[in-house]
Amino acid sequence: MKKIIAEPRDLPSVEVFSRSKALADLCDRYGAVLVTESARTVIAEAREAMRGEGALKGAGTEVTEDTLSNLVLQRVEAIMQGGLTEVINATGTVLHTNLGRAVLCKEALMRIALAGGKYTDLEFDLGRGRRGERDSYSVSLIKRLTGCEQASVVNNNAAALLITLNTLAESREVIISRGELIEIGGSFRLPEIIDKSGCILREVGTTNRTHAADYKNAVNENTALILKVHTSNYTIEGFTSEVSLRELVSIGQEFDLPVVEDLGSGALLDLTAYGLPHEPLVSESLSAGADCVTFSGDKLLGGPQAGLIAGTSEIVDAIRKNPLKRSLRAGKLNLAALEETLKLYLNPESLHERLPALRLMTRPIEEIEEIAVKAAEIIKSEGPGASLQAVVKKDSSIIGGGSLPGRELPTMVTTIKGRVSPLALQRAFLRGRPPVLGRINKDAFILDGRTVLNAEKFYSALSEVLRGLKNV
Ligand SMILES: *Cc1c(COP(=O)(O)O)cnc(C)c1O
Repeated sequence: MKKIIAEPRDLPSVEVFSRSKALADLCDRYGAVLVTESARTVIAEAREAMRGEGALKGAGTEVTEDTLSNLVLQRVEAIMQGGLTEVINATGTVLHTNLGRAVLCKEALMRIALAGGKYTDLEFDLGRGRRGERDSYSVSLIKRLTGCEQASVVNNNAAALLITLNTLAESREVIISRGELIEIGGSFRLPEIIDKSGCILREVGTTNRTHAADYKNAVNENTALILKVHTSNYTIEGFTSEVSLRELVSIGQEFDLPVVEDLGSGALLDLTAYGLPHEPLVSESLSAGADCVTFSGDKLLGGPQAGLIAGTSEIVDAIRKNPLKRSLRAGKLNLAALEETLKLYLNPESLHERLPALRLMTRPIEEIEEIAVKAAEIIKSEGPGASLQAVVKKDSSIIGGGSLPGRELPTMVTTIKGRVSPLALQRAFLRGRPPVLGRINKDAFILDGRTVLNAEKFYSALSEVLRGLKNV
């Protein structure tokens, strides 16, 4: 209806309006509750606007029933279109914490659908006909893959560390080198985790140098364990000295103290076999004598969010009995995905084809270059012209997820420079459908095809961004 509503008293009632023909489709799609609620807000705002108040004040629009129903549509869709949104990762960072870390393998996705849509034997032992453990299958695979005596799975690695420290060292001292008191991504600070675990932090050495004697001198009757943390997101260079895990293990033996290592990004297989830099293996830490190792499921392992604990039976059994386990346990969807991811490791020869994280880390440079060249061509042919230049260059991608600090993978990128700042370009690319995320390097905005999962989708999002940029 095109009739102009000029006076507040001519506005329809919420009751009548939300049942009107104009909103019938919307009601069918999203239900009457949400539509009525939005209609109420829209009418109230229109009333205020007519009185020259509120958000629509002075908008100068002529209100018709169509305008009102469009506003309702916008409100309802704004609510219903929330939630996780697909983005194109052109940052080159394979395990990007802000973008969900590892992309799961197909097998994991299928198993998630099964675990979510059906009843399963999650906590039921079909062989014995009685209650079972939810992580028992993952545990059997972790044992096989790391050589540990016992294992357990919790919500994430922060939880793994929390429950390990709480089990082994509550109200007692944990010795750790000052050089390993890390912060990861804002909310994970090691001193705070130690504190929240109910343990007392006993830092030794200095930021750059810690010696065996520092550890030995710190031991007293209240010492519970020695903690080693893999400083996964930075490197200390220059005049440095750290005590190796092996040495810590012998100190631990001398004073009868367990040694726990927080590996963060634990690799299960030797990555050099795939042409990647060496990253500490969980099995190496265990064979060096660590009593317990904690690591993430969604970093180098390439699986879902999870915290894995591998160690001696004595320690891990105690951890499993800690009542905190109930609070920190992994959800069934994550366990389903973890099981399938771990299974892929039983066939290392096909791992780099089947595990997305590894596939992206080992992506052939020719394939990355092809994406970079094509993106540059699209920018040249569809962009605003001379005001935006795209050049293909050698660069390096970061693996991310706190792994391989300071070690990067050679890549080929599209470097974009223009009259607009890199920050403005970044914002423009976020308006793509799906949004395209790149990285800023000095005066350029950079797209790294290493992490682009679907090249065609990337190109069409790019075209759309460029159409928007033409009008800038
Ligand atoms: C990433 C990381 C953590 C935290 O792991 P989440 O799985 O993100 O909870 C803890 N310690 C180290 C050394 C890490 O690298």
